[in-house]
Amino acid sequence: METVEDVTRMRLVGGNLALDFVNTRTGPPEGSPDDDVLTGYPELVAWGAYAGALTEAEAAALRRLSRDDPGGTRAAFARSLRTRDYLDEIFRALAADRSPSTSVLARLRDDEADALGHARLDRGSTFGWTWRDDHTLARPLRPVVHAAVQLLTTGTLNRIKGCGGCRFIFNDESKNRSRRWCSMDDCGTAEKIRRYVAARRTRAT
Ligand SMILES: [Zn+2]
Repeated sequence: METVEDVTRMRLVGGNLALDFVNTRTGPPEGSPDDDVLTGYPELVAWGAYAGALTEAEAAALRRLSRDDPGGTRAAFARSLRTRDYLDEIFRALAADRSPSTSVLARLRDDEADALGHARLDRGSTFGWTWRDDHTLARPLRPVVHAAVQLLTTGTLNRIKGCGGCRFIFNDESKNRSRRWCSMDDCGTAEKIRRYVAARRTRAT
């Protein structure tokens, strides 16, 4: 059973909030995921605060809101898993040089329209969307959906890649686009060890 603490041990290596949201499921590069840290609405809120999608005050307000509305909370959590499924489909397709289907893109468009309908334009160095006035249970998803649209509309699509050792997806921001692993500490090191062992075995025979 995953806990709220497990959520905050996830590595944020996607380089984009939507990719980090997809990366809340772990497993091999191909096939089904073997683990999922998003086991309930409290975990979704904890992840949102950890990943920077929510302030601690917003997270606390959402926890209170969800306690008062169990039915709405179940619906909001189910919706967040469906969102993650279609984001997974979109970015996994792009990582494999395929085009996502028009139906998943339409779902993203609908969620982005909903997100912007709850957003406000706040002035920083430029104006940007914030969800400070959004007090709905869907609040954790808003910046995730918007980050997905931002990456699709202003990112470099061939920088979106899947890790060679696990199912994580990342935006390769390296200068020569040479990144192959979600992180050198995990899959990169595992690959180095694998190659070292293989080379030793070759030398021994
Ligand atoms: Zn990996």
